[in-house]
Amino acid sequence: MTQARLGCIVNEELAWGDVGLAISLGLSQFHPPFVEMSADSELIERFCSPQRPTIGCWALTEPDHGSDTVGPPEDYLSDPARRPNCIARPEGSDFVINGQKAAWVSNGSIADLAVLFCAFDDRSGTLAGSVFVVPLDLPGVERPPPLDKLGQRSLNQGEIFFNDVRVPASHRVVDPEIYPLALEGMLAFANAAMGQLFVGVARAAYELALDYSKERVQGGRPIFEHQSVRGRLFEMFTRTEAARALARRVAAHNAASEPVLQYSIATKVFCTQAAFDVATASLQIFGANGLTREYPIEKILRDARASLIEDGCNEVLSLVGASKL
Ligand SMILES: Cc1cc2nc3c(=O)[nH]c(=O)nc-3n(C[C@H](O)[C@H](O)[C@H](O)COP(=O)(O)OP(=O)(O)OC[C@H]3O[C@@H](n4cnc5c(N)ncnc54)[C@H](O)[C@@H]3O)c2cc1C
Repeated sequence: MTQARLGCIVNEELAWGDVGLAISLGLSQFHPPFVEMSADSELIERFCSPQRPTIGCWALTEPDHGSDTVGPPEDYLSDPARRPNCIARPEGSDFVINGQKAAWVSNGSIADLAVLFCAFDDRSGTLAGSVFVVPLDLPGVERPPPLDKLGQRSLNQGEIFFNDVRVPASHRVVDPEIYPLALEGMLAFANAAMGQLFVGVARAAYELALDYSKERVQGGRPIFEHQSVRGRLFEMFTRTEAARALARRVAAHNAASEPVLQYSIATKVFCTQAAFDVATASLQIFGANGLTREYPIEKILRDARASLIEDGCNEVLSLVGASKL
């Protein structure tokens, strides 16, 4: 429980400084539990040693499958009309991976290893899902330059292409039978963490506006003394506190029992929306100065905007959460 609370504090503080960097850092250490599941001592030695840190990434999204991938797991890949862009097939005692993951894979162009959630074709004609740990220096892996984007610019993102990439059987760490459970568990983990991070973004936006309102003089007094500005600041304070309360409550819940997806989704949707709303209100308090790169609020607003899409669009996540009620 203490560890869960500490995790919330660390996530909030890192994101207060720069949420793109905080996400990159979090994902960089995402792979060791999956690598350990391989029971492959060479792989574990190479990718899980604290003495030789490596960078990981979570490769789920595909060019033709964004929201599809976070949809109810029982639907994923079961509709033959939805062709996956990345497929692994058995070949002798190995697996061979072909296709591509989308440009949205965080750390995609700098990672040493991908935790690859992809379709699996056992050659029976029916597709299922599997998770592979794939060192990204293997022959057949290609990575174009990273994406240029509006927000969270410090978070590296880029496509990964797989051209006949061969991995031994030990690199498949989740088979089709438990794939839906693994996907749901990952979404529950990632959504809860996103909520905690965006509490930090909301707080940064609120604190910047509060400080600015005490410095900026209009009508002969600091704008903080104008009733409407104070009212807006209180609304921002309230939303930030409410977001933190939910994020910590869900973190405590997830630490005490199996993570429950709908609670994690509620956290992600509520906290990212709170961060965006507070950042928007903060920029308004900065007036025209808020629009310039002289002040950090325009950057925070851009970072918060990306979060409404990241790790699943909030509307789609809400539908997934609703399906669990
Ligand atoms: C900053 C950032 C970081 C990311 N990091 C990663 C990562 O590390 N790994 C990774 O694999 N992916 C990552 N992603 C990808 C992310 O998960 C997807 O962008 C997200 O799932 C949405 O998919 P999409 O962008 O293809 O949008 P689409 O699925 O094309 O959706 C477009 C629009 O249609 C709506 N829509 C789509 N389907 C439905 C539906 N069934 N019902 C109602 N509305 C619908 C959506 O709400 C949205 O408004 C990241 C994205 C961002 C922005």
